[in-house]
Amino acid sequence: MNDCIFCKIVVGEIPGSRVYEDDEVLAFHDIHPFARVHFLIIPKAHIATLADCGAEHERLLGKMLLLAPRLASEQGLDAGFKTLINTGRGGGQEVFHIHVHVFGGGDPVKRS
Ligand code: 5GP
Ligand code: ZN
Repeated sequence: MNDCIFCKIVVGEIPGSRVYEDDEVLAFHDIHPFARVHFLIIPKAHIATLADCGAEHERLLGKMLLLAPRLASEQGLDAGFKTLINTGRGGGQEVFHIHVHVFGGGDPVKRS
């Protein structure tokens, strides 16, 4: 877990361009954005994937999702945005600390 890049961003060991932070959740800009605005919402606690979540994570996951429109609006995505959660290797997940991608702006983004 201590090799986890996102845990290191949480504690400030490696930099992240922060969009939002509270005691449970952090949001920061993706280092390789695939739209004009692209940020990630993560829990501060290490949870590897969406598939590792249980009923005890229901409130936290709801909080993360509800932050998406609020932060997207603050980032100027007034026309809308996309959200994406990659889960597991087969789901294209590269960083095994759960995160919600929020992105949009510029030309319409298509990603299947
Ligand atoms: P995944 O494929 O796991 O859903 O997406 C991981 C995302 O994390 C990728 O979009 C990648 O660009 C981003 N990422 C990986 N390492 C770093 C980092 O050190 N800092 C930031 N800000 N983003 C990162
Ligand atoms: Zn982590």
